[in-house]
Amino acid sequence: MISELRRSVVPFLLAAVMAATLPAVACRQSHPAAADASAPAQSNVQTAAQRPEPRPEDFDPTPATPPAMKLSGEKAFATLKEFVALGPRYLGSPGHAKAEQYILAHLEGAQVEQDQFKVQTAAGPFAMNNIIAKFPGKKDGILVLAGHYDTNLPLKDTTFIGANDGGSDVGLLLEFAAQLRQHPPEGYSVWLVFTDGEEATITWTDADSVYGAKHLAQRWQQDGTAQRVKAFLLLDMIGDRDLHFEHEANSTPWLYQVVRRAGQRLHLESHFSDRYGAIEDDHLPFRNAGIPVVDLIDLDYGFDNLYHHTTQDTPDKCSAQSLQITADVVAETLRALNTR
Ligand SMILES: [Zn+2]
Repeated sequence: MISELRRSVVPFLLAAVMAATLPAVACRQSHPAAADASAPAQSNVQTAAQRPEPRPEDFDPTPATPPAMKLSGEKAFATLKEFVALGPRYLGSPGHAKAEQYILAHLEGAQVEQDQFKVQTAAGPFAMNNIIAKFPGKKDGILVLAGHYDTNLPLKDTTFIGANDGGSDVGLLLEFAAQLRQHPPEGYSVWLVFTDGEEATITWTDADSVYGAKHLAQRWQQDGTAQRVKAFLLLDMIGDRDLHFEHEANSTPWLYQVVRRAGQRLHLESHFSDRYGAIEDDHLPFRNAGIPVVDLIDLDYGFDNLYHHTTQDTPDKCSAQSLQITADVVAETLRALNTR
């Protein structure tokens, strides 16, 4: 994502400063449904009203809960490096085509669907492709892990490769694919979604952003998939070697708390920041389709987010350890979501 996130830094800092004295203060610019994460969850999303709001503690695993998936941060990091070595992946570029082929080649053996479409962007017409890998489980319902693979069109004349921004989520999602292929889900189905066109083509606005997510969320709403999705976990910029997940205010409050409780059980609480602010990202169209969503993101990438959307977003700013932390938190969250 681009300037919207830059702008979001201000509410973050404000929230961080104000949190010290006014713990309940919410960012005014945040979504009303997420204005107070500690309040009983209420949603102003029409279709979400049909869903009963669960309590986060209802998802705490019991001794009978099966163990979490085991994933390798080292392997995810190796994939990140190989993937971003394909070059910039902006819309219409050779690197974008290579990225699609790379992802598809690493999903062999899975049920793969390509959501291909053409869209008029702010910078002209482009072909886009969301790639979805489905791993069927034994329970009726779907847990989605998602991340984007494109890089920024406005940075096309630079060496920007988005190691953390796009590369980290692809690296980790492909590690999930490798594990799910060997160990199919015992509970809910798991779908891995590689979105296209997340980045703005000129400047971040509601219209010029998250093109792939908007297209897929609309499809899922029309074909009934949205109602079968129990949770949508978005992974973005999760490879930062100095990893701190935001308390993201557009995320569904109860689901964010399920993720946070998973982190507590793993003694990874120090990687959860108390910065509270709204971020616009691929999760929004799915939230608007009535799906519970979380954006797992670290928007403090280098001092004052210095590496974000710059040519400094390279693999040496990321680490296998951070990918391992994210992998473990996500795996424990999937485990928790399967307790119900
Ligand atoms: Zn970005």
